[in-house]
Amino acid sequence: MSTHSAQRIDTVEAIIVDLPLVREQRFAALDARSQSMVLLILNTREGIQGIGEASLPSGPWWGGESVESIKANVDSYFAPLLIGEDAFAIDGILSKLDDAIYGNSFAKAGIEMALLDIQGKALDQPVYNLLGGKQRDSLPVAWPLATGDAAAEIDEAREKLDKRLHDTFKLKMGAMAPEADVERACRVAQELEGLAKVRCDPNGRWDETTARWALPRLVDAGVDLIEQPLPRWNLEGCARLTRECPIAHMLDESVCSLQDMQRAAELRAGSLISLKIMKTGGMRRTKTLSEMALAAGIPIYMGTFLESSFGTGANMQFCATLRDLPYGGELSGPLLVAESITEQSPEYRDFELHLQAGVGLGVTIDRDKLAAFRRDRNYSLHAVRK
Ligand code: MN
Repeated sequence: MSTHSAQRIDTVEAIIVDLPLVREQRFAALDARSQSMVLLILNTREGIQGIGEASLPSGPWWGGESVESIKANVDSYFAPLLIGEDAFAIDGILSKLDDAIYGNSFAKAGIEMALLDIQGKALDQPVYNLLGGKQRDSLPVAWPLATGDAAAEIDEAREKLDKRLHDTFKLKMGAMAPEADVERACRVAQELEGLAKVRCDPNGRWDETTARWALPRLVDAGVDLIEQPLPRWNLEGCARLTRECPIAHMLDESVCSLQDMQRAAELRAGSLISLKIMKTGGMRRTKTLSEMALAAGIPIYMGTFLESSFGTGANMQFCATLRDLPYGGELSGPLLVAESITEQSPEYRDFELHLQAGVGLGVTIDRDKLAAFRRDRNYSLHAVRK
């Protein structure tokens, strides 16, 4: 294909998919046993299909959207605005969507992902070449420890280390009382000292006094990064904590939009920024956000919402365009989700996730798996649980 023609969007379909997890995941807000996402399937009149994945960390507690809200809004409000548009006109499409639909960054990110997949396929190029080109082939990937039981978490970490899958672990915190949570984290960090890096993420559940009490204890135990201990709105508090924090203080919930990033940079509210395509409304905006962070001298990190094998492949296309990730990232979804929905298997080895070759997003949906796990086929989690 030497020249490209427009790729006009003809159909837009949103499919909710429910996948079981290999074990329960205890977030600050809830205990999850399955992971749901929306696949956004766009077909062009010219015959190309692009797919995006809007993934959420088990319901609306993190970002306000749910798989149900995404499907409802895409069916009723996004689709009529998309049909007839040229998939190459991403900035224009996103502006049009922003004018008509407030928020909904997860849905917008899933749509943008499908548009980029169409572009890549039309141009016979991987998506990373549409985003500035490849600067890395792999990403060091942290593993979430999220059962709340320190002894079991230490065993889980040792198993991951033995298999050379992960040498960095992130404790999901905030579900327990701070005293018990900090004791748990210190025990895990001390037990793994010299073997692995241990990090803590209370998902904004602590107040400043608690964070100030916890921080020196965690640092003493060897924790090398604390993520979003304070509520997302408390940027001034985050800035105060950053000033006294001898380890990386990463902002996640506090930095979703470009405006959030600008304000975080002005206040020096964090010393590391977690990038997530979903929270910022797409790969291109996340790239801009990353450039704003780097321009302010604040390093970046590749975060996750526990995407499927498809969404993880897509995230890796974006991640491949990032040069320096001093603390790595955590695209570990496919190892926590018990079922793959792609024809390709994500490649985890030597503590890293490796980029997959291919055009577009480099991943293709396994149609049989999609048929089995789509919610509108009355799939029941209990039917496949062992
Ligand atoms: Mn987080």
